[in-house]
Amino acid sequence: MNARKIIHVDCDCFYAAIEMRDDPSLASKPLAVGGAADRRGVIATCNYEARAYGVRSAMASGHALKLCPDLLIVKPRMDAYKAVSREIQAIFRDYTELIEPLSLDEAYLDVSDSPHFAGSATRIAQDIRRRVSQELHITVSAGVAPNKFLAKIASDWKKPNGLFVITPDQVAEFVAALPVAKLHGVGKVTADKLGRLGIRSCADLREWNKLALVREFGSFGERLWGLARGIDERPVQVDSRRQTVSVETTYDQDLPDLAACLAQLPPLLDELARRMARLDASYRPDKPFVKIKFHDFSQTTLEQAGARRDLDSYQLLLSAAFARGNKPVRLLGVGVRLHDLRGRHEQLELFAP
Ligand SMILES: [Mg+2]
Repeated sequence: MNARKIIHVDCDCFYAAIEMRDDPSLASKPLAVGGAADRRGVIATCNYEARAYGVRSAMASGHALKLCPDLLIVKPRMDAYKAVSREIQAIFRDYTELIEPLSLDEAYLDVSDSPHFAGSATRIAQDIRRRVSQELHITVSAGVAPNKFLAKIASDWKKPNGLFVITPDQVAEFVAALPVAKLHGVGKVTADKLGRLGIRSCADLREWNKLALVREFGSFGERLWGLARGIDERPVQVDSRRQTVSVETTYDQDLPDLAACLAQLPPLLDELARRMARLDASYRPDKPFVKIKFHDFSQTTLEQAGARRDLDSYQLLLSAAFARGNKPVRLLGVGVRLHDLRGRHEQLELFAP
């Protein structure tokens, strides 16, 4: 029997982490990202300093300020968060294409068939955590388990900046001690009902047979019976079709000038060509683009319709993009936008007169 290897990756206080990264003067102060208190705003995310005061996500900003009068509340910068999210996804794709994003800062990865690290999901998770920290300067927590429900619990176990692994032979023991409220799909109402039946842990839940649980909880009873035994067959669902293929590298030392950047193009384009070759026929390559992140974390992306995808085109794009900042560069990316031949847009084009 081949157990699956699922990793759940979850960034630690994602929005707040990016704000602290981009403005180090905010670090080590209680910080929240959210709406202003005087406009009935709500906290989206807060850092661990703020959590120590009891500040939480989804709390009214006014209430958060009562708990923590020194709390700094900054406005969300969704574009910045989305950009970091794309960079994290690009790191994931170095290990597997089976990625199911749950939000900007959370995803499941199925690495059952990944050739990396001799197939060790634990070492893949360690490497992802190391790379996100070194390349993007935020931390992520990860959980490794044979299925999605346990991987998600595991990623929360050592949060923040932690890794927790549940191997197949540890599942039975781990799940037995788990409070039923931790089970996927068990909200407050179900947890309360389970409590009234004297069921608090999964060990309690295992005392009940399938039929009895179905009688009490309908079809969810069968699911509860499985979850109590660590069974969760849900696949990692790769829903979104790719819109780009790209390669990017963060350099240990900033590239000081345009010449240094141009010198990095050939190896990036070689890797891009390798990734393009792995695409199936349902995509057609379209515009080339380059991305630059300067040493101060400002970044720019430049693409050109109709340009060829050769070294000359990328050199021109890179030169023009560099001129927008004209300062040392920490990250370079090259990529190609894709036409999705399965997409509706393309079909309309095909059938247009
Ligand atoms: Mg998170």
